[in-house]
Formats: sequence, structure tokens, C-alpha cells
Amino acid sequence: MNKISRLEIYQNNIRLLEPFTISLGTVDTITAILVRVHDSEGNTGWGEASPTPFVLGDTPGSVTSAIELIAPMLFGEDPTRIERIHMLMDAAIYGNTSAKAAIDIAIHDLVGKICGQPLGRLLGGCKDKIETDASIGIKDPEGMAEEAAKRVKEGFKVIKVKVGIDPQEDLRRIEVIRKRIGEEVRIRIDANQGWTTRQTIDVLTKMEQYNIELVEQPVKGHDISGLGFVRRSTSIPVMADESVHGPGDALHVVKSDAVDYINIKLMKSGGIRKALKIAAIAEAADMECLVGQMVEMNIATTAAAHFATAVGNIYSTDLDSSLFREDDPVVEGGVRIEGGYLILAHEPGLGINVNEKLLGKPTRVYTP
Ligand SMILES: [Mg+2]
Repeated sequence: MNKISRLEIYQNNIRLLEPFTISLGTVDTITAILVRVHDSEGNTGWGEASPTPFVLGDTPGSVTSAIELIAPMLFGEDPTRIERIHMLMDAAIYGNTSAKAAIDIAIHDLVGKICGQPLGRLLGGCKDKIETDASIGIKDPEGMAEEAAKRVKEGFKVIKVKVGIDPQEDLRRIEVIRKRIGEEVRIRIDANQGWTTRQTIDVLTKMEQYNIELVEQPVKGHDISGLGFVRRSTSIPVMADESVHGPGDALHVVKSDAVDYINIKLMKSGGIRKALKIAAIAEAADMECLVGQMVEMNIATTAAAHFATAVGNIYSTDLDSSLFREDDPVVEGGVRIEGGYLILAHEPGLGINVNEKLLGKPTRVYTP
């Protein structure tokens, strides 16, 4: 029997090509916490946490502290018993979903290698590829339209426009972008909780003419009744992002009839295992989902892409972090974007290799 025998933590920093702004703040660097899990048979799996203080309330230090509490619970456990591993993680510490996601991803990679199967196949294998949008961060309307046009030229069929700072300027952004990229390309917008309910209904009414595919999280994450009010007041479909972290939140928005879609992210849910449960709750409500991400490196992005291709009611993704950062020399292989689609290699587990020489020494090592 395979047993978990060792766990290592690494830190990997990479700069973005330019600062990326959403209504919650600006990011210019990714600080990823990488986790490697070893088993007794010499297999290893890689995972990644992307600490995101303004959404998840975590930091590289808090992720490391959470993993330090969880690691001793895992030694001697069979990595194929992923449900049991989640019960142990949840018993060790509340919340801390990105730390748990890193371990969950590493263990899924490990199990994929043990089984000799790509992760997407192990998880259900619904499709071979899936589209991703290209996100446009907040700046002046003309600059955003320029960037949107460039992405359309690269083959993207969906543009996700960040809004949520000022409704009037946001309306102008959409007007300028739609004029620039024409009617064929889908536009979805994401306010990241930046508008009030009243502002949302007012601005969406004016945006209806620009053929908006959906509006993501216009109001505060805790305001489920506000989301429902927006949904009943506009013809533009509403998607929950910050309102849904785990399966319990998914059940809440479904029962409240508050949204049309859920944006599932591994860092919010606590990894793939919990993300599958969110998708199942949505499926039971006849609801489709999208898979998104924080600003991430390629281990977490590849895990999200495997999950997205595996599940039937996931119709699209927002897995475009690679557009905004320099190429990461540390992580080789994994998902790549081609003509607006995510393409995965047919290799066991995540299908990534980590260049350990470039990554350097682990910051922490845990053994029994
Ligand atoms: Mg969002």
C-alpha cells in the first residue's frame, strides 16, 4: 500500500508583465506556495496555493502555518483515500482553503501518477478541451479596448472585462470595448463586489444593449438577497464568485434562487474534491458553472483545467493567468492556451515537471 511519507513546502515568486487591477486592488507579483507530497513507493505529487489576502484572507505565512498543522495528520495515510484526507484536514484547521487546495492538488497529482492516468480522466473525463476567456484589468476605456482587440486577434472568443470602481466609467468601458471588438465576441463582466444593488440595476439596464453574456459578483459576497434582487431586475444573467467559497455556500445561493451561474475556484473551495461537490449541487439545480482562478502559476492552473474538462456542467473557464506573467521556468509542461482553448497533455497526474535546480531548496520539510 502507498503511504504518505514526506511533505515539502517551497516558495516561488514571479512578476506580472504589468500590474493587474480589479475593484478590490492591484496585484504585481505572484507569491505561490508550492507543496510536494511523497509516498512510500517513491511517487511524488505537486500542489500550489495562491494566497489572496483581499478574497481569501490568507498570506504566504498563514498558508505555511496551516500546512504545518495539517502535515503531521497525513503521514501513513493512503493517498488514494482523498475523502478521508479532507476529513483530516478539516479536523486539523478551519478554513484556510488555499492551503488545503495545495495539498489536495498535490495528492490528486500523486494519485494520477499511481494510476498512470491524466487527472482529468480520473475525475470523469467529460471533454478533451475547454475554452477560456481573456481578462482585461481596469484602466482607461481606450487602453482596455486596445487590449481586448489584441486578445481577439490571438483567438479568444470571450473577453472578461473587469469593472466595479465607478458605474458611469464602467458603462463607458463596455461601450468602447463593444464598438472596438464587434458583435461576434462574447463579453462577460466582473465587478468583484464593487457596486451597490441600486448601482448594479441602474448600470446593467444601460448595458443590456451591449449584449453582455453575464455579470459576475456585482454586489458584496455576503449579500445573497442583493444578488437575487439583481437577478430578478435585469435580463443579464448573474454569476456568484466571492459569494460561493465552499459547497455550503453553493447550496445557499441555489436555495435562494439568487444566481444563474457559479464561478468555482480551487483556492476558494479547498481543492478539487470540494469543487466536485459544488459542481454536483449546481447540477442538481440544473445550473452550469464556470471555473476561475486567482492570479496563479501553472500547477494550480493545470489542476483547475483538468477539473474543468472532467465535469459535465462546467461550460467555460477563466483560466488565463499565464497571459499576465512572465513564463515560469520552474514549472514545465501542464496546460497551455491555443486559440482561446485550454490544451492538456495526455500524461499521468497533472502532467507537469518541476525544475528543482531553479526552484531551490524547500523552505520547510515535514517527515514522521
Ligand atoms: Mg470574479
